[in-house]
Amino acid sequence: MTFQNTLEFAQQLDAADQLSKYKQEFHYPQVNGSDVIYFTGNSLGLQPKRTQKYVDEVMKDWRELAVEGHFYAEKPWWDYHERLAEGLAKVVGAQPKEISVMNTLTVNLHLLMVSFYRPTAKRFKIICEEKAFPSDQYMLQSQVRFHGLDPKEAIVEVKKRDGEHAWRTEDIIQKIDEVGEELALVLMGGVNYYNGQVLDMQTITAAGKAVGAFVGWDLAHAVGNVKLNLHDWNADFASWCSYKYMNSGPGNASGIFVHEKHLGKKDIPRFEGWWGNKKETRFLMKPEFDPIASADAWQLSNPPILSLAPYLASLELFDEVGMDALIEKQKTIVAYLEFILHEIDKQVDSTFEIITPTERGCQLSVFLHGEGRALFDYLMENGVITDWREPNVIRLAPAPFYCSYEDMYRFGQILKQGTQNK
Ligand SMILES: *Cc1c(COP(=O)(O)O)cnc(C)c1O
Repeated sequence: MTFQNTLEFAQQLDAADQLSKYKQEFHYPQVNGSDVIYFTGNSLGLQPKRTQKYVDEVMKDWRELAVEGHFYAEKPWWDYHERLAEGLAKVVGAQPKEISVMNTLTVNLHLLMVSFYRPTAKRFKIICEEKAFPSDQYMLQSQVRFHGLDPKEAIVEVKKRDGEHAWRTEDIIQKIDEVGEELALVLMGGVNYYNGQVLDMQTITAAGKAVGAFVGWDLAHAVGNVKLNLHDWNADFASWCSYKYMNSGPGNASGIFVHEKHLGKKDIPRFEGWWGNKKETRFLMKPEFDPIASADAWQLSNPPILSLAPYLASLELFDEVGMDALIEKQKTIVAYLEFILHEIDKQVDSTFEIITPTERGCQLSVFLHGEGRALFDYLMENGVITDWREPNVIRLAPAPFYCSYEDMYRFGQILKQGTQNK
């Protein structure tokens, strides 16, 4: 498609967009009396309008039924989390029994490492990407120290080549092969939070499995963003948060995937609690743990229903639209944003360098040469919500659910003014 940097062209794209009606399904912050152009769905997705109803329903059931709500609410609380499994299974390419919803992301990665990082004298190393999201680095280091090992020896980071902004799959595979029999676990971010790169999860998973390691994925920036096929890829486990592209609200509950082959086992190391016990025997309060034959076996506590309600509302939207349609629009809108950036780049003195490689999802990370904080502040004051990463990077994620082509055009005009108004 040949793009044009005009309002009419952007509006034509919106008119042809099957998903444009979903813009009305979300609430927008206001700046100068208008809806903002929202580029930070990779950090906190917008609130779907229908979410309020789901939360109100739980508040009402609690008010009117109190403890009886566990079994007699319209959506009973004791198995409320199971309502999310089917929708999430479609989003991540899994079977419903491989999914559970619980806790928050870093907590879940720790819990999953209890099961899938079992270092021995010989096999004790972990491969991750260099400069992983800080929480992931702290998590890996503290797990390694917990086992009495030295993070400097046990954690192997795959680096980018000098002068390059993205990882090469061949370098990751080479590192996996090199560490070989010493490799206990590969745990990486499926989509990198900084440069927006989508790793070749299928190839990397296969390489890790081939040397006998466990392979897990942090899907914080991948879920609801890119095509995932966790079951067929044969990943051992994964976890994600729900407040980024999944639009389920600040700090909200996380999801996990555990591959079918690890389910229904009593002898797997795992931190356990009563909500992981089979439902039939849970309330018999027996001393011996009898795991549910699903990823719910990793659940410790009875789930936070007020958190699950917004997650269920947002999953309903994903179910209605489907990942394929979302990804199709995403590809076009990100390409249009890229085009707009190049067009504005030609018209102004300063230069923008897109550091996101072609293996990408929703996000373009843009290096502002010679610009910086002042331009970022100008954008924010003029209703473009984006975010700033040191040293000089803004991240733009036009989530296909609620961003329009007209937003991209208007953003270009504001960006152009911002570079001229310094
Ligand atoms: C957003 C994000 C997190 C956040 O972790 P929480 O436990 O939800 O606070 C962790 N890892 C990555 C890669 C992220 O992008």
